[in-house]
Amino acid sequence: MTQELGGFAALELHPSIVAAVVATGYEEPSAIQQQSIPIILAGHDMIGQAQTGTGKTAAFALPILHRIDPSKREPQALILAPTRELALQVATAFETYAKQMPGVTVVAVYGGAPMGPQLKAIRNGAQIVVATPGRLCDHLRRDEKVLTTVNHLVLDEADEMLKLGFMDDLEVIFKAMPETRQTVLFSATLPQSIRAIAERHLRDPKHVKIQTKTQTVTAIEQAHLLVHADQKTSAVLRLLEVEEFDALIAFVRTKQATLDLASALEAKGYKAAALNGDIAQNQRERVIDSLKDGRLDIVVATDVAARGLDVPRITHVFNVDMPYDPESYVHRIGRTGRAGREGRALLLVTPRERRMLQVIERVTGQKVAEVRLPNAQAVLDARIKKLTTSLAPLVGDAEATHGDLLDRLTADIGCSPRALAAALLRKATNAQALTLEAVEREQPLVPNSAPRERTGDRPERGERERRAPMPLGEGRARCRTALGARDGIAAKNLLGAILNEGGLAREAIGRIQVRDSFSLVELPEEGLERLLTKLKDTRVAGKQLKLRRYRED
Ligand code: AMP
Repeated sequence: MTQELGGFAALELHPSIVAAVVATGYEEPSAIQQQSIPIILAGHDMIGQAQTGTGKTAAFALPILHRIDPSKREPQALILAPTRELALQVATAFETYAKQMPGVTVVAVYGGAPMGPQLKAIRNGAQIVVATPGRLCDHLRRDEKVLTTVNHLVLDEADEMLKLGFMDDLEVIFKAMPETRQTVLFSATLPQSIRAIAERHLRDPKHVKIQTKTQTVTAIEQAHLLVHADQKTSAVLRLLEVEEFDALIAFVRTKQATLDLASALEAKGYKAAALNGDIAQNQRERVIDSLKDGRLDIVVATDVAARGLDVPRITHVFNVDMPYDPESYVHRIGRTGRAGREGRALLLVTPRERRMLQVIERVTGQKVAEVRLPNAQAVLDARIKKLTTSLAPLVGDAEATHGDLLDRLTADIGCSPRALAAALLRKATNAQALTLEAVEREQPLVPNSAPRERTGDRPERGERERRAPMPLGEGRARCRTALGARDGIAAKNLLGAILNEGGLAREAIGRIQVRDSFSLVELPEEGLERLLTKLKDTRVAGKQLKLRRYRED
């Protein structure tokens, strides 16, 4: 543990922050963290060009936690995020990193939830406020002094905030804060509009950008799949069924993830082990030797632990968690395709990480094609193929040596040779699922699988209809329209129509679930009847929307 503790400790963060980070399982700072943390700690303004997946949240959260004073019970840092989802994610990250800092509280402020408790949490002395601009402005209208004690401001995903039309709100927020504050701006892109904000509101900012020099990748077949974060393990299990691998290395980000995935794989009968920074050197060598000689087939590793690992048997690299930067992607996939052999690299991409994929493609100068998660039929075909391969060599002269025995047994039992062969097969395959229905039953679809319905099986209509709606967000009502996928509707069409015609802010609209013959949309409970009247004549894809409140019972 000491080695990777060094990575974060060298940044001179407060020991309680380093301890929380290590407890979270991070082994060393990512590139954006290495560069940003010292700048923010020193109190400079900063512009960071980084997208989701680079570790940007911790890049600002850790030094900001270091800089606040937990004994003062007033807002000291404000983080602005474009959406409620991101605001919640950032607030949770702060809570995780502040676990060992008693007295630090975090409040998330976003639309669609009642304002009272949010304001109360701010007044009760939350030091960290994570907010969407629209809702924060509502609070400022009620109490213009809310932000007067804030001396650190972070604009997270600034380009997204501008795209969503928050420019005016940002100006209001800037004015409500002390001019002497520190301002940090993170954005995936730096268009003119962002530079203009930086010029007006940041003082002598330092620039941080992950170096993206072109990298060459040879002889490795690359592909990516879109999955939700909570479906990664089941996606890996399915992929393993169909990929013909010799040895495989799966990369994840944290120690805990190495342990979790390795034990999930072991439970399914794979010869798998975890490799992370906590594992002692002699044990590490044992794991690598086992991978070399075939006692192990899969190693689940963090980047740090896999450093210098050179095993020619590796045919596959699974990037289960996204690497922090293109260089480490190239590094990781270079573990396969050794000694002129063919290699295959698969990358799991969550919806929010698509930008990172584009950066990787740009830097490597190669397209990483999208593939779909194998469906039940593909899993079944792969199983039967494996069975054929393992049984074929057994046939040989078995009939000559055991044919008479077979005749005698079938006569004694009073069954056909086919019945006896089937019984032996059932025993030999250990009750493994070997029909389509059985495979489908064994690998049920994860609820609401596949972002944009693009990955995984496209479930049949009935199955999609049956999936339970997701739990409802606080302060929201679920509404239903009879328009669905079969009408050519996608979530973005519904979103666009409701934004335009309803005059709502993006953050006011919650989850949108498009099913085959209907769709569900989460809208603010407050003013719902008025909104539905407003949307009475709205048409989407040429058809009347007819949105109605939906009762689940
Ligand atoms: P972000 O780019 O901030 O959205 O972070 C992406 C993911 O990386 C999050 O799940 C973080 O928990 C994780 N992460 C951030 N920094 C590190 C680190 N140094 N080591 C391991 N995981 C990290």
